[in-house]
Amino acid sequence: MEKRLCQGCGAPIQTAKPKEIGYTPESALQKDTILCQRCFRLKHYNEIQSVSIRDDDFLQMVSKIGERRGLIVHIVDIFDVSGSLIKSLPRITGNNPIILVGNKMDLLPKSTNKRKLTDWLRSSAKEMGIRVEDVFLISSAKGHGMEALTEAIEHFRANKDVYIVGTTNVGKSTFINRLIKHSTGMKDVITTSYFPGTTLGFIEIPLDESTALIDTPGIVNKQQIAHYVSEQDLKLITPNKEIKPRIYQLNSGQSLFFGGLARLDFLKGDKQSFVCYFSNQLPIHRTKLENADTLYKEHKGELLSPPDEQTLEKLPDLTETTYRLNEGKTDIVFPGLGWVSVPGYQTTVTAYSPKGVAVSVRKSLI
Ligand code: GDP
Repeated sequence: MEKRLCQGCGAPIQTAKPKEIGYTPESALQKDTILCQRCFRLKHYNEIQSVSIRDDDFLQMVSKIGERRGLIVHIVDIFDVSGSLIKSLPRITGNNPIILVGNKMDLLPKSTNKRKLTDWLRSSAKEMGIRVEDVFLISSAKGHGMEALTEAIEHFRANKDVYIVGTTNVGKSTFINRLIKHSTGMKDVITTSYFPGTTLGFIEIPLDESTALIDTPGIVNKQQIAHYVSEQDLKLITPNKEIKPRIYQLNSGQSLFFGGLARLDFLKGDKQSFVCYFSNQLPIHRTKLENADTLYKEHKGELLSPPDEQTLEKLPDLTETTYRLNEGKTDIVFPGLGWVSVPGYQTTVTAYSPKGVAVSVRKSLI
């Protein structure tokens, strides 16, 4: 069969995978002008739809960005920073400036220290070799922080193109749709016409006569827990409103299970409070450390759920890391799930997470 290309973004047309690039329903193939669903929705509904792409394909596509001049806006999910930072970004974007945007702020408790969060985002990026011009915190669902961000985009783009990049699920589409519909600060987002077929799979939304906002497909990063759980479980572990901290007074020799997806053992230290920040729907289970292994073996997927059956099929085994904490209030971060805040003096804990989704610690945000 002749390879057909979307006349909007130039992506090869396919009819098998709705969430991937170039998807078009069979029925639309009869039309004179063939658009992928993503371009069709943009054209007719002024709406960006999220599509995904594998990391290596993405690298090939975006290596073109390095040859162009423009501003890179890198969106991350503040609940999954290590899973949503794109390690290869500096390599592919060349010398173009990058601004980092932490999305989903509406989910954090109001008492979150924004400066600490910003510092942590900046240093997490730096650890991965990503140097950023500035860091912004937003909620694209609620529209918080959009004005400051759009002003910064205008400033840093210096009349050049803007590339929006992110892994899947960070809220990239929600963000662009908000820009399109409300065009806060950033002037004249025109969506009625766009530049056809310029770059494979990129969608360009003109900002003025010569520059555009460019939506790149979301990258699938295997370190995101989202890829190891069923759709049902993903809904459950993803907070859908401001999280309420749950507090456990623990003695050493006790453990907490977060569903059956993660676990924290309190090995050594005085009795203290463990403050848990997870989706309000994720069950937390307290048990004696000496019973924890058996409990997990016998009740994973039942008492300890999620995982549901579908998740169990693809969930990697849990791996453990031990931390000796002595520097004051510390968060133990389970990427994509949440974190536990502990006082952090003469305390030893062991954290368990699915292999490949590494736990980390940071200075407490709250
Ligand atoms: P994309 O894959 O990066 O394009 O992500 P989407 O825009 O499709 O968003 C992924 C999920 O995150 C959806 O369920 C959105 O409703 C949700 N989401 C996006 N932005 C926000 C936000 O600012 N706050 C909250 N609470 N949820 C968000």
